[in-house]
Amino acid sequence: MASNHDITSRHVVGVVGAATAGSEIARILAARGAIVVVFEQNARPYGKIEDGLPRWHVKQRHDEYEEINRRLDHPNIAYVPLTRMGRDLDFDRLRIEWGLSAIVLAHGAWRDRPFPVEGADRFIDRGLVYQNRLIYWFNHYNEKSYDGPTYRLTPGAIVVGGGLASIDVVKVLQIETARAAMAARGIKEDMVRLEREGLDPVLASHQLDFATLGVAPCKLYYRRRVLDMPLSDISPDAPPKRREAMRQARVKILEKAMRKFRFEFQELRAPSGLIVEHDAVVGVKFSATEIEDSHVRIVESDVEAPRAELTVSSIGSIPEPIPGITQKGETYTYADQKTGLLMDGPTIVFACGNVLTGKGNIKDSLESGTEVGTRVAEAYLGLSDEEIPIADGARKDAADEAAVISTILAARPRLAPEAVASLMRRVEDRQREVGYEGNYRAWIAKVTPPDLE
Ligand SMILES: Cc1cc2nc3c(=O)[nH]c(=O)nc-3n(C[C@H](O)[C@H](O)[C@H](O)COP(=O)(O)OP(=O)(O)OC[C@H]3O[C@@H](n4cnc5c(N)ncnc54)[C@H](O)[C@@H]3O)c2cc1C
Repeated sequence: MASNHDITSRHVVGVVGAATAGSEIARILAARGAIVVVFEQNARPYGKIEDGLPRWHVKQRHDEYEEINRRLDHPNIAYVPLTRMGRDLDFDRLRIEWGLSAIVLAHGAWRDRPFPVEGADRFIDRGLVYQNRLIYWFNHYNEKSYDGPTYRLTPGAIVVGGGLASIDVVKVLQIETARAAMAARGIKEDMVRLEREGLDPVLASHQLDFATLGVAPCKLYYRRRVLDMPLSDISPDAPPKRREAMRQARVKILEKAMRKFRFEFQELRAPSGLIVEHDAVVGVKFSATEIEDSHVRIVESDVEAPRAELTVSSIGSIPEPIPGITQKGETYTYADQKTGLLMDGPTIVFACGNVLTGKGNIKDSLESGTEVGTRVAEAYLGLSDEEIPIADGARKDAADEAAVISTILAARPRLAPEAVASLMRRVEDRQREVGYEGNYRAWIAKVTPPDLE
């Protein structure tokens, strides 16, 4: 709240999105003396950590919740929850009318890349489900207060994807359909145990095996080859021998995951059509592809048409379009992509985190050796006992971005005290409107469901 801040001549920065990237940027700029106003669409600020990483990452999720809390609980930060840019807050007005020194967009990548078949979106949640909504449901459906869409996970689902997030989807399907089949036999099994130990050992402990369980496995379809799967980043300047070793490591990662979670896989298939009955998707037509100079080329149309009650599209998350920001394809148009500078002017605008990378996932360790890349991917997918700090890469990138922004701001004039005061009155008005009374920890206690996992 304004009254808590020292209203002198200051920089006042608006950050949109309060999760890993937004909270780190806010913490650093606040520590350097700016007032930082953090706008977040949700009541809680944890972003992909709460809603995108499957909830079996129990410890990492809780650790990062607390890290984000610690960052946002700073006297120079004004948290403005339940305020979505594009709905409650217009980007152009924020930039032109509010009089902020800078805006940092850290609102992530929440839009699923559209399923590549024309008209497919007519069937959303009628046989065709997008990954972001599915994982959101999976992470929250146990909460008493959950009132979002509900998904019925059916055996033998089709998953279209290829990256780590699509393997998360496959794991959700395999674990949940196995649990349901066990429950039908009167066996109550824990989701986290199935994820940690894998399907076979848990089934064996109940004198069962996957074949007798009678659950059709889901199948992941990928348009490139196994060795192209983006399971770990390969640095563009890696020597050819290392590149090849990293590609081969991907084959092993996939094999391990298939053994542990009992799913099937088909490479070199691109969706070419949907099979629709009674106004719902009941299958997908696939064309065969080949890779030529790293491009996907269709070699034969409609080579197979598997049927399934459920198809999940997991082909990537991209930033949402924002009126007022021009786009080039899936990403925003930058004045300088290297510094994350979107627009110059009296209120300078930057982007950081998943918004900037245009990815909804993966920030590998900064080192990019074969062993490190493989270890990170295996740890993330639950194929080793190693626990990796999941948000560290994203946080470090945000810290670097904060240093750049801080240097640029230092060379620009601060806002006059009366401008700061009037801006903060505006912020307080919005906080009051959403019922936020100015105490971050008290707010979090109030809006956290007792059964949040
Ligand atoms: C090996 C590895 C694998 C990983 N895999 C994945 C993965 O598959 N998927 C994944 O998600 N993460 C993955 N991660 C975690 C990755 O670190 C996170 O995606 C990262 O934390 C993203 O942070 P962010 O702050 O940029 O975005 P987000 O966490 O998405 O935060 C954006 C925030 O902005 C808010 N927001 C969005 N739109 C608006 C708006 N219009 N107005 C106001 N607020 C808005 C959101 O509610 C959210 O709180 C992985 C990490 C590792 C190490």
